Amino acid sequence: MDHFLYNNGELHAEDVPLSAIAAEVGTPFYCYSTATLERHFRLFDEALAGMEHLVCYAMKAASNLAVLKVLADLGAGMDVVSGGEYARAKAAGVPGNKIVFSGVGKTRDEMRMALTGGIRQFNVESEPEMERLNAVALELGVKAPITIRVNPDVDAKTHAKIATGKSENKFGIPIAKARAVYAHAASLKGLEIVGIDVHIGSQLTELEPFRLAYEKVKELTLLLRDDGHEIRRLDLGGGLGIPYERSNTAPPLPTDYGAMVREVLGDLGCEIEIEPGRLIAGNAGVLVSDVVYVKQGEGRQFLILDAAMNDLIRPAMYDAYHDIVPVVEPAAGAEPEVYDIVGPVCESGDTFAKGRSMTAMREGDLVAFRSAGAYGAVMASEYNSRPLIPEVLVKGDQFAVIRARPSLEDMLSRDSIPAWLQR
Ligand SMILES: *Cc1c(COP(=O)(O)O)cnc(C)c1O
Repeated sequence: MDHFLYNNGELHAEDVPLSAIAAEVGTPFYCYSTATLERHFRLFDEALAGMEHLVCYAMKAASNLAVLKVLADLGAGMDVVSGGEYARAKAAGVPGNKIVFSGVGKTRDEMRMALTGGIRQFNVESEPEMERLNAVALELGVKAPITIRVNPDVDAKTHAKIATGKSENKFGIPIAKARAVYAHAASLKGLEIVGIDVHIGSQLTELEPFRLAYEKVKELTLLLRDDGHEIRRLDLGGGLGIPYERSNTAPPLPTDYGAMVREVLGDLGCEIEIEPGRLIAGNAGVLVSDVVYVKQGEGRQFLILDAAMNDLIRPAMYDAYHDIVPVVEPAAGAEPEVYDIVGPVCESGDTFAKGRSMTAMREGDLVAFRSAGAYGAVMASEYNSRPLIPEVLVKGDQFAVIRARPSLEDMLSRDSIPAWLQR
């Protein structure tokens, strides 16, 4: 459920008409709903009620400081994958003891930054990383709290580019090697083992792959405890999917997910961490764009928007589906037209949808891409020298620009011409 609904014939973000934001900030722009972000965080928090737990938002999904602050104010932890994300989490007021650090390529600088600034745990993904983290911790005279990310070799049944839990993926250590790796970790004086980590992929639409992975984690917990390790925390990753296509059967809800977690892992006495990203931010954001032209092609019509693949890359990168709806509510019974919906970038991949049926659109009409809050703005680039588009946050009847659109001068000022080219 989200808070982007038609009201008085116009699509609103909570109580604000999207057209009012467009008039003030121009198009295209991303717009987030505070109420939806809060609702989704609470759904996870409540789904794990009764078990000691922390919901660590996977901030790579949408990492604007204002979005992070909304969640931090509710008590969210953060899952970060870079020093930049760590800095954002701290800047949004998240204490170090609520930040977990994931990612396969943590550098010495990132390790130092987290060890000095405070960290709940590192989710270690390889033996070389373990050795390096041990060395950095010893240099600083501290112990680094760790889990080891295990790769359970489970098929997440999602798009290949976002599946992470099969043995061919680069993530984690093979679960079959886990006992040996934990034994080695226990011998390193700069590390403190606190638990186990697993994350099998993103946009999962069934519970079964999670269950398979978590059953393997349970088995491993018991083995590692037998080996004398203190396994007190299980980080179960993120990955629960969202309904992009409203006609499809909806993925399981956080409540169903929470019940399954309790059933599989509830009797281990472990603190549970989860790292949802997409489910918190995805349906909490829309991308609003303007129709630049309606172009008649050979046997097809193109709706050419002012948003492009550089603003929202998911359709080009993952063949992702987004609902694209007119901001002015279509009249009941209006004859639909069929469009290929594209951006202005010079690539055929700059196609958001093919053969999409929607109410007749004209130049200057606004459209909204639903479910664009996660992996939207964060994956944007300035390809074709298109400045990054602004982000707006709505709360009730208020809205604020939370990242301004850079001017062309701002964009150009980041380049410099070396002296030898200047004359
Ligand atoms: C991307 C990622 C997540 C979040 O995945 P979602 O599908 O957005 O919930 C969680 N944990 C790790 C380690 C990730 O890489």
